[in-house]
Amino acid sequence: SLPLESIRRSATPSRSNGLSVLVTGAAGFVGTHCSLALNKRGDGVLGLDNFNSHLYDPSLKRHRQSLLASHSILVLDADINDSRLLSLLFASFPFSHVLHLAAQAGVRYAAKNPHSYIHSNVAGLVTLFESAAKAADPQPAIVWASSSSVYGLNKNSPFSESHTTDRPASLYAATKKAGEAIAHTYNHIYGLSITGLRFFTVYGPMGRPDMAYFFFTKAILAGKPITIFRSPDGKDVARDFTYIDDVVKGCLGALDTAKPSTGRPGGGPKTGPAQLRIYNLGNTSPVPVAKLVSILEKLLGTKAKKNIITMPSNGDVPFTHANVSLAAKDFGYRPTTNLSSGLSKFVNWYVNYYGIKLKTSTGATEAA
Ligand code: NAD
Repeated sequence: SLPLESIRRSATPSRSNGLSVLVTGAAGFVGTHCSLALNKRGDGVLGLDNFNSHLYDPSLKRHRQSLLASHSILVLDADINDSRLLSLLFASFPFSHVLHLAAQAGVRYAAKNPHSYIHSNVAGLVTLFESAAKAADPQPAIVWASSSSVYGLNKNSPFSESHTTDRPASLYAATKKAGEAIAHTYNHIYGLSITGLRFFTVYGPMGRPDMAYFFFTKAILAGKPITIFRSPDGKDVARDFTYIDDVVKGCLGALDTAKPSTGRPGGGPKTGPAQLRIYNLGNTSPVPVAKLVSILEKLLGTKAKKNIITMPSNGDVPFTHANVSLAAKDFGYRPTTNLSSGLSKFVNWYVNYYGIKLKTSTGATEAA
């Protein structure tokens, strides 16, 4: 049985005309930050997460859940494949939006557990779209996380939304590309309003331990060697690292301009074509991974032991770079945090969370 009263309390906006948003993957990295930001401006948020232990230790997810609870945001422990639950939620509460962030993330882990990607990113996405399509009018507008990985081995940079995405380099990328195709179908047949956001390497406090900036920090502090990839053509591997607060602003901008759709087949005439949008959310300024390491060394006051090798075919792509002019035009998206200041905020969180004292005074000052 569902805690309906707690759900209603969590999902009801505190400002007039506020949104009520079902956030899936709410105990994840991006989901926690978005839920906090929505709650802060008076929108209602109900979270949902299955707290799986696939990619990283779920104790960090429980930590994020407690933080959300301290802001009166409820996160249900459930799987997006639970269609009965989703239908019940949509029937019990008139969500204006769904921010769908629940997914099996991680490019390299796909080689170890391919079916977890199909379960969450394909089957789970279909279950969510299916339940939203059957919700009473107006159906909630869906904003969901695709990924920059759909650009695959594209060499034509910066990447624009119109560029080809037909060479995914990992199963993760392939499931996100499949998600974009499935979004097209649910928009076309059911008139669901769907906005896909292609995030570019998001980093920041409470981030994912499987991502390079995070495990580099851990290894550098432990005096353990780190492996840095050189691209097969000898060039530096570079990423368009995007700070979490910028991505959150992009998600909120997309939600604010996403219109719930009305009229489904059999449920009355459509009021016009429903939205189907896709946007890059990146930083527009790629940084070589070697430079990321040197920033971390400075912040941590410790030299890294570097092992530089040619990138294996592990699903990673050598280069990403976002063109964000579409998101800028449609909802004023403008990233403002550079890698040094974003990483300094991450290191500050990291040392607090793990109770670490930095050795040098430079490091301590930077991270304090
Ligand atoms: P994350 O792993 O921290 O968050 C995802 C959350 O979804 C997790 O808490 C997980 O427990 C939950 N989840 C997974 N499968 C589920 C299921 N079947 N049912 C319910 N909950 C489930 O990852 P994140 O970095 O916060 O990513 C959020 C979204 O953004 C994901 O869709 C990811 O693919 C996408 N994305 C992230 C990045 C990035 O750099 N962080 C880049 C591109 C795209």
